[in-house]
Amino acid sequence: MKSISRRALTLYLLIFVFLAGSVLTYYRLAVNADKWAMNKANRHLYTDGGLATAGDITDRNGNVLVSTVNGVRTYSNDVSVRKATLQTVGDGAGYIAGGIQTSFKDELTGYTILDGIFNLKRYGKGNDVATTLDSDICKAAYSAMNGQDGVVGVMNYKTGEIICIVSTPTYDPLNKPAEEKEGMYLNKFFKGLYTPGSTFKIITLASAIDNMPNLENMTFECKGKNGKGQIQIGEGYVFCSGVHGNIKIEKAFNQSCNCAFASLADALGKDKLTATAEKLGFNTQMNKINGKISRSSSIIKLDGSSALDVGWAGIGQYTTLVNPCHLLTVVSAIANGGTAVEPYLVSKITTPSGKTLYTSKTNNSTEYFSPTTAQKLQKYMRSNVENNYGDYRFSGLTMCGKTGTAEISDSEDAKPNALFAGFSSNPDYPFAIIVVVENSTYSIKTAVPVASKVMAAVKKAYS
Ligand SMILES: [Zn+2]
Repeated sequence: MKSISRRALTLYLLIFVFLAGSVLTYYRLAVNADKWAMNKANRHLYTDGGLATAGDITDRNGNVLVSTVNGVRTYSNDVSVRKATLQTVGDGAGYIAGGIQTSFKDELTGYTILDGIFNLKRYGKGNDVATTLDSDICKAAYSAMNGQDGVVGVMNYKTGEIICIVSTPTYDPLNKPAEEKEGMYLNKFFKGLYTPGSTFKIITLASAIDNMPNLENMTFECKGKNGKGQIQIGEGYVFCSGVHGNIKIEKAFNQSCNCAFASLADALGKDKLTATAEKLGFNTQMNKINGKISRSSSIIKLDGSSALDVGWAGIGQYTTLVNPCHLLTVVSAIANGGTAVEPYLVSKITTPSGKTLYTSKTNNSTEYFSPTTAQKLQKYMRSNVENNYGDYRFSGLTMCGKTGTAEISDSEDAKPNALFAGFSSNPDYPFAIIVVVENSTYSIKTAVPVASKVMAAVKKAYS
């Protein structure tokens, strides 16, 4: 008996040593395999720094945005589509952080930790990635930007599908310029942060709707001289672009009266304004797009700020910053009755043998606004287009929106950034849009015409 149990013990020890060794080997493989197989020296995968045998990236209609032809990574044969989609599909060399070619590198090459590059050797190519983008709408947005720097993003506010992203300046990946422009490697839709200007009045208004039962009966004062209104808040003044006199909230929102909204922010106070913004995702690390592509967080910081600072914050100035994809999600939630849908960009990943590896689905778990608040915000944003920006610019779309002209410097000759955030409330076209035109003029003259052209392309594509 004694010798048997000793033998058993020896056997157990041997099994333990074997298992420990396996675990260590597997661990090393798991930690290093990616680096070993994906090393750029491995000619199976890379040619000239590009992903030479990676799968296709297509738009929502099956148009090829990137593919591999005879071992060379190639792009759409339409130069405008190449430029319009570059920051989203990314470049083969990985200059553009967060591009699909970088974020989905393993999927595109067909690499898995268990099979290594087995699939790639067997089929000669990796997996195909289908996106939610519409390349015609991206092209229209690139054309509408007309050489100006900034961002355009469009998403289906019911499903979360991102159908358009354009980030400029851009370049043709088949003819990369020798001279680099600032921001050309950046997808500003996901990574950019901008002073929101008056688009933030949507959030101040939401906070006022939730916290001030008397809001619709309140009268705001915008008095001044030389065509410029002003209001004293705390120790200083907030200035307005016009002299609006005594106005109610709807007209104050239509006319984007700084005096009205700075005094609303002052009355709400920093805690309530911050609480509303944080409920909408400010100061929060948002989920990665398709679990892969990270986004910059929108920021509002009013700790230790004065009453005057809070007044400026209420009109989207001070230190507040928004990410374009996030602001688009906020207006999408208004359009969608208060519920925010998670934006996504990749709809499906398919193996060379036709097997579906991944499909995305609509995820709408977050209530940003109560249905009542969302309905009121819709009404006010609709009133802006009807009474100020002009329905003629958005024919057939029953458009709702808010502009912003954000001062980004105290310097006299500094140009502002122009913004527009809005959505079509026509159920046939459930799309929301964000436009940012950098170093611009008044948003009605610049950002609204871009939104008008892009939404016309959206309507045409979905009619
Ligand atoms: Zn005013």
